[in-house]
Parts: sequence; structure tokens; C-alpha cells
Amino acid sequence: MHATQAPTPEKPEVTHPSHLPAVDKVLLTPAMQTLRESYGLDACTEAVRTVLAGLRRQLLGSDETPGVPLLVDMGDMVHSAQQRLEQRFAPRLRPVFNLTGTVLHTNLGRALLPQAAVDAVVEAMTSAANLEYDLEDGSRGDRDDLVEALVCELTGAEAATIVNNNAAAVLLVLSTLAMGKEVVVSRGELVEIGGAFRIPDVMTRAGARLVEVGTTNRTHEKDYLGAIGEHTAALMKVHCSNYAITGFTKAVSDADVARMAHENELPMIVDLGSGTLIDMRDWGLPYEVTVRETVESGADIVTFSGDKLLGGPQAGIIVGKKALIAQIKKNPLKRALRVGKITLAALEPTLRLYLNPETLARQLTTLRLFTRQAVDMQTQAQDLLAPLQAALGEAYVVEAAAMTSQIGSGALPVESLPSHGLKIYPASGKQAGRQLTQLEARFRALPRPVIGRLHDDALWLDLRCLEDGMQAQFTAQLAKLCSSQNS
Ligand SMILES: *Cc1c(COP(=O)(O)O)cnc(C)c1O
Repeated sequence: MHATQAPTPEKPEVTHPSHLPAVDKVLLTPAMQTLRESYGLDACTEAVRTVLAGLRRQLLGSDETPGVPLLVDMGDMVHSAQQRLEQRFAPRLRPVFNLTGTVLHTNLGRALLPQAAVDAVVEAMTSAANLEYDLEDGSRGDRDDLVEALVCELTGAEAATIVNNNAAAVLLVLSTLAMGKEVVVSRGELVEIGGAFRIPDVMTRAGARLVEVGTTNRTHEKDYLGAIGEHTAALMKVHCSNYAITGFTKAVSDADVARMAHENELPMIVDLGSGTLIDMRDWGLPYEVTVRETVESGADIVTFSGDKLLGGPQAGIIVGKKALIAQIKKNPLKRALRVGKITLAALEPTLRLYLNPETLARQLTTLRLFTRQAVDMQTQAQDLLAPLQAALGEAYVVEAAAMTSQIGSGALPVESLPSHGLKIYPASGKQAGRQLTQLEARFRALPRPVIGRLHDDALWLDLRCLEDGMQAQFTAQLAKLCSSQNS
């Protein structure tokens, strides 16, 4: 703003706070009255106050810098108040397009729920339900009963209980079975999952003492046997969810650890992490040990997540021997870690989909995404190429490209799924790095943010998770990429 610029009649020059209108005067403008209908008087008053206070500060300046004269009118003030209101009332949790190539992306909310779960959740949220009520005899029921039989049928376990997430499951199991005692774990399995879940720390919080055995790359039967003593509460195996130890390695199988545990009258606990209910090879996917196989190998307690490979809501599922599950359910911590009706409403129909393997890949969203046909994604990439190039202009090159998706969330960390998508990079090498960062930010600034992956000096948009039904919405907002070019 130039000091010499003459104030236009519509935008009077304001040089002193006393020239600013009173809050009430702004509130009484027709535009503010309209906003009041949507946002209410309190929020509108707050917004106007904040805007006027900001202008007042600008006019007075700080102690060091003098205030600046401003060109503002009523319309500007209302507009600023409106922006403030819109921002304050905008949802913080927003849908995004996950084009990162990681299907189960923990930071993007992991599994997308199947429609059956969505419908059940809406119903459960808006009506009373028999959450803990036995409809047969009208007595008090147990919320775990809603899914226990189904979980047992799908895993071959004797009993099951559900908690908030797998971290809670591990905590509850250790706190119940090993408080004040020792748990033996191989050094190669002392996992840290993103977001500060570390087996040794959880163990401490559960009041159990970790006894590490073996080395990072090799653990033998004799290592476990040497660690068993009078304070041992359990032998535990933890799934190496997000890493692989390769090369000169040796791990003891679940079955062998279970046998050693039982010979010493100890339980064997497995934190399976992701925990799949199906043999993924039947769907042309890489092999991951199933919950059933783990139970059959002799594990007495197995814990796994609801929102990883299983494809359901966030939950921790604990399965195993009846007596141990009964003990776990009696732990007072169970009450603190239990799930609500929304979770159970989503979990039950998700599990039921597994009863029909023939329709599973169609109905279970995560499996549908894992098994998406390459040709689908290839066609999609071709369709999107021109609109994307048009939206971005000549500064960028857009190419259809083969790429690889990850399953994510601690499942099969080293396996990848062949995929297709779009690769975008700056046309000129000049300032390419900055241009690329800006490009990524522009996609993130879209009404429904598009999250891609920066890799190899390009922005990669993996189309695996852009199902056909979402393509129109994706394309429709591309025009906005141009208008946000000022970034
Ligand atoms: C993912 C994972 C956890 C944590 O599960 P949440 O459901 O995220 O709480 C614990 N252990 C292993 C091995 C995991 O892979």
C-alpha cells in the first residue's frame, strides 16, 4: 500500500482506532445478519471483535514501529469476519484422496470400511441397541458376545475379547498374565511401530519385565530355554511388522516356542500386529501368516488389529484359550480399554463378510483395493493424463507410469503390489526442487486434498486407491490447481 495513494470513496482511509465502527454497527449490516443465521450471534460477535482488534493493533503499531493507515470499509470487515467464521466452523477431520500408494496408511486412517459396516454404524449411532443386553432372557449381556462366536469361527480360537486397538490388547494381555513377572522375547522382535508403540515400553507399563534373548539376527531354542526361570510368566513372539531381518538369520517357529512354553507350563503369547483372517495367496497376494495358523501352532493368546489387514474399524482383537481370555476380561483395565457400540457395530458385519470368500474381494474394501486389476489403474492413468496436464500447464510434465503400492500399516513391509498412476515433475531443471514442493502443496490445498508421494524428483500419484466412483470428484477439482498457483 502506498502512502500517496488517494483513498477511494468506497474504501475510506482509517488512520486512528476511533475511526473504526463499533462491534454492534458491523453486526447490524445485512451481510452480518445473514452470517448470523448460519453461525449464531456469539460466534459472529467474536469474529467481528477479533477483526476490529486486529485492525486496531495495525493502526497503533507496536512500540517500535508506528501504525499504518489502512484502507478498509465495512465490506472488508464483514468479509474478514466471514473468513474467520468459515475457518472456525470448517471440519478439521476431512476426506482426502490417498494416492500415496500405501493402502493401509496409518496417518490417513488405515482401513476404509465396507458398506455393510458403514450402514450398521449409522444405525447403531442413531438408535438404542442391545450392546450389553441379552434379548433372549432380558438380562444383562456382555458386549464381547456380539462378535465372539464369529471371531472364534474365523480364527479357530476358543474365546475372544475386543479392546480399543492392538496396542491396548498387548497392554491388557501382559498386565493380566505377566504383571510383576518376566516375559521372554527374542531381540529380533523388539518392534517399534510408528507413533511410539515399542514393545519394551508397553511391557514396562504393563508391569512386566522384559527378558531379551538371542541376538538381533539369530535366536535359538536354547536362548528361550536358558531364560526360563521361576519368575517367567510367558514366552512371547512379536510380528516383525515394519521391517525384515534378512541374511544370516535364525528365528524359532511359533510352534517350537509354543512347545517350549507348554513344557514349562507357561502360556505363549503372540502379538501378530496386522493379523489376516485369510490366506492372501488365494487372492494372488503375498503370503502373510494367518491368525488361524498362529492359533493352530499352539499360541495360547494372539492379538491383532481390526483396521489393518482385517479391513474393519480400529480395534484390538484378543483370541485364545478360554481360561486365559476369562482372566483377561476380569482385569479392571479391560473396562478402560473396551470398545464402544460404534466399533462393535462396524466390526460385526466386517467379520461376517469373511464367511463368504467368493464375494469377499468385492465387498471388503481393503481387499478390493489390494486386488485391483492393473489394467483398471492403467486405463485410469490414461484418462487422467490430459486433464491433469491441462490443469498444470507447461511448467510440469505429467506421465502415466508403472509404480508399486505398499500394503502398509505393518503388514508385509518388504512386499509390494504392482500398480499404475501418474508421475509429475517440473519441465525445467531450474528450481525443480522448489517447484516440486509447491506442486505437492497445491495438491494438498485442494478442496479434497490429494496426498501423493515425493520420490525420485517427482510427485507420484498411485491410483490404486482412487476407485472408479471417485474419479469424477478427483477430476472436477483439478481446475482449482491452477487458481492456487500463487503459492
Ligand atoms: C500395528 C501393530 C501394533 C499396534 O496396533 P494398533 O492397532 O495400531 O494399536 C502392535 N504390534 C504390532 C506387531 C503391530 O504391527
